[in-house]
Amino acid sequence: MPSKQIIVVEDEPDIQEVLSYNLKREGFAVETALDGAEGLSLIQRIVPDLVLLDLMLPGMDGLDICRHLKENHLTQHIPIIMVSAKGEESDVVLGLGIGADDYVAKPFSPRELIARVKAVLRRGNSAAVRSQKNTILCDGLEIDIAKFKVALNGKELKFTATEFRLLHYFASNPGRVFTRDQLLGQALGNDAIVIDRNIDVHIRAIRKKIEGTQQYIETIRGVGYRFKELE
Ligand code: CA
Repeated sequence: MPSKQIIVVEDEPDIQEVLSYNLKREGFAVETALDGAEGLSLIQRIVPDLVLLDLMLPGMDGLDICRHLKENHLTQHIPIIMVSAKGEESDVVLGLGIGADDYVAKPFSPRELIARVKAVLRRGNSAAVRSQKNTILCDGLEIDIAKFKVALNGKELKFTATEFRLLHYFASNPGRVFTRDQLLGQALGNDAIVIDRNIDVHIRAIRKKIEGTQQYIETIRGVGYRFKELE
């Protein structure tokens, strides 16, 4: 199998070096760009399997690049992982809203970076397969879509329709970070059944039911929530 192509757009040479080194060590083919405009044209020319995109870039920033890529049918399918600095959480939220897949915050560990990259690539491959499944299993948690049931370690739990849809949507996209707006729009839609539009309230209710010793839902400060990914 040919190695997956990744483009790294990052203006800090040291960080670009670390990103590039760790990705190559994992067998990825890596191309790099130091500024936004160069990055965008490189991505459009190569059409890689994934883009690692710094948010603060000279010339054209990461959000602009993201917007450009998502507006063009030739590049809109390319998964994007944003690389953000502390204090850029609101930009991360914007980026996820535009269509970026995930983000890593600086300083990141190489291990975390590689895990995120692999998870995003894997999601791209398995999304179609997963949507066909009727039951989702995750560490003792069982979600039966056809029967509208949730069980924890074999014991059935009572879920409201809203909680079920939210949990199901979450669990169908393990490892993926969602903003509150995305959860409202994509998981719950504009359904009249959803009386409370406050996502945090529903998440709290779900957690109370499923989280004892085991944590399934991770709170990402300033950004949103992420469902645990199976190792
Ligand atoms: Ca930067």
